[in-house]
Amino acid sequence: PSNINYLYDPALNKGTAFTREERDALGLWGLLPPGINTMSEQVLRAMGNYRRKTSDLEKYIFLAALQDRNQTLYYRVLADYLEEMMPIIYTPTVGLACQEYVHIFRRPKGIFVSSRNKGKFSRILKNWPNKDVRVIVITDGERILGLGDLGVAGMGIPVGKLSLYTACAGIHPSWCLPVTIDVGTNNVKLQNDPLYFGMRHDRIRGEAYDSLIEEFIMAVQDNFHHTLIQFEDFGNINAFRLLGRYRNRVCTFNDDIQGTASVALAGMYAAMRMIGGKLVDQKILFLGAGEAGTGIGDLIVKAMMDEGLSQEEARERCWFTDSKGLIVKSRQKLAAHKVPYAHEFEYQADFLDAVKALKPTAVVGVSGQAKAFSQPVLEEMARCNERPLVFALSNPTANAECTALEAYAWTDGRAVFASGSPFEPVNLRGVTYEPGQGNNAYIFPGVGLGVIASRAKHVTDEMFMTASRVLAGEVSQEDFERGSIYPPLVKIREVSIKIAAAVAEVAFDQGLAGVPRPDDLRDFIQSHVYEPNYQSYV
Ligand code: NAP
Ligand code: MN
Repeated sequence: PSNINYLYDPALNKGTAFTREERDALGLWGLLPPGINTMSEQVLRAMGNYRRKTSDLEKYIFLAALQDRNQTLYYRVLADYLEEMMPIIYTPTVGLACQEYVHIFRRPKGIFVSSRNKGKFSRILKNWPNKDVRVIVITDGERILGLGDLGVAGMGIPVGKLSLYTACAGIHPSWCLPVTIDVGTNNVKLQNDPLYFGMRHDRIRGEAYDSLIEEFIMAVQDNFHHTLIQFEDFGNINAFRLLGRYRNRVCTFNDDIQGTASVALAGMYAAMRMIGGKLVDQKILFLGAGEAGTGIGDLIVKAMMDEGLSQEEARERCWFTDSKGLIVKSRQKLAAHKVPYAHEFEYQADFLDAVKALKPTAVVGVSGQAKAFSQPVLEEMARCNERPLVFALSNPTANAECTALEAYAWTDGRAVFASGSPFEPVNLRGVTYEPGQGNNAYIFPGVGLGVIASRAKHVTDEMFMTASRVLAGEVSQEDFERGSIYPPLVKIREVSIKIAAAVAEVAFDQGLAGVPRPDDLRDFIQSHVYEPNYQSYV
């Protein structure tokens, strides 16, 4: 690189931390103020600026700009202040950033492929400067969080997810590639926004859509050696089919289906540790029967089968409602992913009636419908359960099925509560509750690291079940006392490394690994972990 590149390439830049020797050798004198800062001093300055921002969206923009300027410093502040920054770079603020994406846009991050580039995807991937890409997060923008179709503006999600890969599991930033495949948008407001810079046609469907996805998957195989492809925030009319098509062909998973399932199962395991009882004795009623809902259902069924139930028996413990009410046998034309859960039972149009009729031990909200866990619903749950399990997993915060305060207030503080987006601690009649975040961010970075390190051919359900067990095992008595069924976010890095080691072990056991089994798995995983420290150029 030329001398100026050391300042303007975010992967190389050290800003005021370039040493005298480096300034001599690289010709940087005069291009920087003469004083030399340490990284800790730079962190102080960055945090001062960050905290001076008066809105969350401005904080997001500040961090995005820092990432464009000095990548090492960006990952340093994320690592050091993850708890504070997670709600900014991830849910809920990332949702707002996607909604405002075309207005706050500064510099592109990642790769955009679109209907306009059909037939050229492989050549486009060659435009990406890093040749050793190990993990791709791709979206088509159709179902961004619970916010719906945001078209090309969904790019904020792959970008945020990959920041977490690095911050939570130490995946090297140069191995990460965020991708948006722009197949149009049905969001009329976006189509009519003069600043919109995605394709303005309606979403491509059917054969034509599938062939664009196929072209992309093949382009990845052409260009890179071993790359994990994470599907993120696709609409469910495509997500299930694509997962079925590719899971045994390439190294891939769908985070909304499988990652969410794993974090929810971990929550169930931990809740059993917290309040006593067995997973197989639970009756779970889902609000929402899409990717997250039936993904969780399918993994819970597997986990119950591990504990001795037949598939039939396990499925009978999982009940679903969708936009049309309770899913029962008599319903016509159910989508394939709902069919296993259509039990013989009287149809209930209303969620409260379904709760009354079924008396579930747990309600799991994955509908994107704010406030659907109403006061009567939660009171009913508290009436028929000593410790009702209430998981309001929809994102962002404004779409949660209930707030933490509501969950505790309407169950006399007896709910075991978790939410997809973070809530502030709740104080109720002198008791403080600090509920945990049931978010797949606890799962995908560790699973990804395990898969990348072992060069696993495929990503399997066993890997996600293992991740659930490891995560649940990391919840301490102290966490339970705070009311949380997840470990605190400050432990996420440590937990991700443990998940990675366990997942890699599954890859070796299942004969899927692409490298020889190491003697010490922990060391092996650790050797793949990136630390955000400056390297020396002299
Ligand atoms: P999805 O595949 O589109 O599924 C949404 C489901 O909700 C569908 O079954 C839909 O019914 C149902 N639904 C919509 N309106 C409803 C209503 N009024 N009453 C009952 N059900 C209703 O979406 P998804 O991928 O499962 O995601 C759903 C939510 O989960 C989103 O808010 C997302 O942010 C959240 N999520 C959270 C995490 C996490 O880590 N915490 C991870 C992934 C997703 P139909 O089938 O009839 O259309
Ligand atoms: Mn998602």
